[in-house]
Amino acid sequence: MAVPNLELRPLGNTGLKLSSVGFGASPFGSVSRPVSESDAVASVREAFRLGINFFDTSPYYGATLSEKMLGKGLKALGVPRNEYIVSTKCGRYREGFDFSAERVTKSIHESLERLQLDYVDIFQCHDIEFGSLDQIVNETIPALRKLKEAGKIRFIGVTGLPLDIFTYVLDRVPPGTVDVILSYCHYSINDSTLEDLLPYLKTKGVGIISAAPLAMGLLTELGPPERHPASPELKSACQAAAAYCKEKGKNISKLAMQFSLSNKDISSVLVGMNSVKQVEENVAAVTELALFEQDWETLAQVEAILKPMKNQTWPSGIRRS
Ligand code: NAD
Repeated sequence: MAVPNLELRPLGNTGLKLSSVGFGASPFGSVSRPVSESDAVASVREAFRLGINFFDTSPYYGATLSEKMLGKGLKALGVPRNEYIVSTKCGRYREGFDFSAERVTKSIHESLERLQLDYVDIFQCHDIEFGSLDQIVNETIPALRKLKEAGKIRFIGVTGLPLDIFTYVLDRVPPGTVDVILSYCHYSINDSTLEDLLPYLKTKGVGIISAAPLAMGLLTELGPPERHPASPELKSACQAAAAYCKEKGKNISKLAMQFSLSNKDISSVLVGMNSVKQVEENVAAVTELALFEQDWETLAQVEAILKPMKNQTWPSGIRRS
């Protein structure tokens, strides 16, 4: 049977078409486990070969290491720049948060140098719940608009964990100013609360990227890194679900990828990958979904195991009154 091409999905009103699976390059920061340069370059090459055209990073990941590694991987592809889509972020750094116009403007120049690019496709304010949302609206986004006019970035995005940050910002900026939102850990088997926000986001015309379908490692056989912010109860429920899948000869990560991919209002599901093997497994999960149905029986069992913890999240950012 012929293997179908990876699906391309439109990203809001941007005109971009993103592969349904995007490449999250945070593991290139070697924060949880070391990733060699050769593994990083080979993973990017394999991802592109298999149809992934969207790559996401940030200066925060591994204190700029992820951007540098991704830059090397993209350069090694040796293909025209318009064949891949790159997003990076601003405002969050090893030193802390700074969403000032001055810092984010400097940030794009630094990121472009590390990525060895002339422009990025999407430039996102990184984890805005840690800053003043009014500063994001009144200072950061206007600064990003200037970068857009200067041709350094094509589209503007915001990212973060709490879902109400998106409505706060989108209700206060001129229409069409924010092109993209990146939400994470809210469209996976254990937490699907992003679903309720999708109709609103669609009315705003923004592109929707959902990151961390494996709940930052909770929905993997290996389990999450030590510093994962989930409660002990959520961690052990996910561990039980992974053990259940293993016992039945199933793979929880594949199940989780397929769950996240099934909603076509989400343009790209961004998964962090650190090896050729993970790239191949995640792309196979998608192409298999195009040929066969989701494994409903295993999904129902896993959902039952996770039910007591369904939609449980964790605090992120500074509290606003
Ligand atoms: P994830 O849920 O994608 O999980 C990634 C983890 O699972 C990594 O440890 C990876 O090595 C492992 N993994 C990947 N494929 C696997 C497979 N097939 N089998 C077993 N393990 C597998 O979480 P993430 O990496 O944190 O998120 C994905 C990407 O989304 C990030 O790399 C980043 O680009 C983006 N992101 C952005 C934000 C933000 O902007 N605030 C937050 C989270 C994630």
